[in-house]
Amino acid sequence: MMFNTGYNEEMSVSPSTFHKEMEENNSKSMEIQESQTTSIVSEDPLQNLCLASQEVLQKAQQSGRSKCLKCGGSRMFYCYTCYVPVENVPVEQMPLVKLPLKIDIIKHPNETDGKSTAVHAKLLAPEFVNIYTYPCFPGYEEENHEVALVFPGPKSVSVKDVAFHLQKRVQSNFRGKNDDPDKPSVKRKKTEQDVSDSKCKDTTLKKIIFIDSTWNQTNKIFTDERLQGLLQVELKTRKTCFWRHQKGKPDTFLSTIEAIYYFLVDYHTDILKEKYKGQYDNLLFFYSFMHRLIKDAKNSEDREGRKLIH
Ligand SMILES: [Zn+2]
Repeated sequence: MMFNTGYNEEMSVSPSTFHKEMEENNSKSMEIQESQTTSIVSEDPLQNLCLASQEVLQKAQQSGRSKCLKCGGSRMFYCYTCYVPVENVPVEQMPLVKLPLKIDIIKHPNETDGKSTAVHAKLLAPEFVNIYTYPCFPGYEEENHEVALVFPGPKSVSVKDVAFHLQKRVQSNFRGKNDDPDKPSVKRKKTEQDVSDSKCKDTTLKKIIFIDSTWNQTNKIFTDERLQGLLQVELKTRKTCFWRHQKGKPDTFLSTIEAIYYFLVDYHTDILKEKYKGQYDNLLFFYSFMHRLIKDAKNSEDREGRKLIH
């Protein structure tokens, strides 16, 4: 799915548009083109990640599709239905990422499995990630004081305010569900206050939910009553590197794995209050590799195109 992380509609110039414009303006200035392209590449946030060696992916890519050991299907890198790497990508050569909280991903049944990047999270942090196919997913009513849903909407709060809003839920759950959490309870007895205070201390986000579907289908899942009572969180605006970035969509729409990654970076700095040192970068192990493959293919296509023109 594409996550709109904010309301920044400003479009940046994509490398392909850039090339076209350059070619129209000055068809002979090849050197300038090349150097300008390089400066765009170096701004790519996927260039500076702390990643495990991607040699295993390079080899797998050269040898082509391989067998899924679970279902026998022929796949590249991993099986998107069984959530396991294929035969020529041994699990031991893949990084394993530890996450500070659990992640539930609710997938729309129409979302093409092979295109979804949600699988990357399950492959790289299997103990922490669960993928559900809508409408089969659990209710969160019992744990609504420690769960949040990533969704940009009018009620969404920023990651740094999550603890504050969950704390309000603990207090209102304690007083009864119909009370307005913003109104101070006048009837509260001292004993209740004590219990409430001690409960506040373990108010932490334990699980974060992502919706994995195209932007149009997301609304259907979002309006499901099981998700309606949850705290909604939105990410800081980040520009997407998603290779299927659609024309006309603002570049703040993220792929699911990018959204998960950027959420965790925000969580680390804004909630855990720790310096981010690349702990979750390996979640982009597959993504950054595939992104580079597609970009290289595009560049060589451009070069072929230019050969034809000149
Ligand atoms: Zn399989």
